[in-house]
Amino acid sequence: MRAVFPDFRAGNVLATSFTGTLTERHGAAVERIPTPQRLMDWLEAHGLAVDNCTPAQLDDARELRESIHAAATAAALGEGLPAAAVRVINDCSARGRAAAALTPAGERCWTLGSTSCVEDALGVIAADAIDVIAGERDGRLALCASETCRAAFLDTSQSRTRRWCDMNTCGNRQKKARLKANQGASSASAG
Ligand SMILES: [Zn+2]
Repeated sequence: MRAVFPDFRAGNVLATSFTGTLTERHGAAVERIPTPQRLMDWLEAHGLAVDNCTPAQLDDARELRESIHAAATAAALGEGLPAAAVRVINDCSARGRAAAALTPAGERCWTLGSTSCVEDALGVIAADAIDVIAGERDGRLALCASETCRAAFLDTSQSRTRRWCDMNTCGNRQKKARLKANQGASSASAG
């Protein structure tokens, strides 16, 4: 029987989608890449398919993920970047040998090297994180307003006032909680 693993969160920024493979960091954390196979599934879903992945490579991926999370959080708060996290991100970026390529339809894809593909994929993610954290991308780094989440995300809304990392989860939960609170208040005043 195939084990059922938590779904991946949708997102359109590679680096923060990757940090979103661990959710509810300040609550009941959910690990969405619990096995090497799930990391492979995630990479494939993001145009970075690899042939195999070892447990050590999964560890490297998670180390990169938490480093991006730490650096992006500091950047969102306007604090100095943690040196250890910066080192991991830079090392991963330097190790990767992926090449950007154009598809016949004019879209970008990534060509990973023939060996150590996971490192190449992590290199692409690290480079994306560098873009986002360095402010090279249009948007504002922000932290999710959910106390149990606090995920860093790139706010690309025109007003730059987005509050949730993900409307379908954190945003929706907040909306429901507010609705429930309002209902409680109105029934209390009615009674
Ligand atoms: Zn959130």
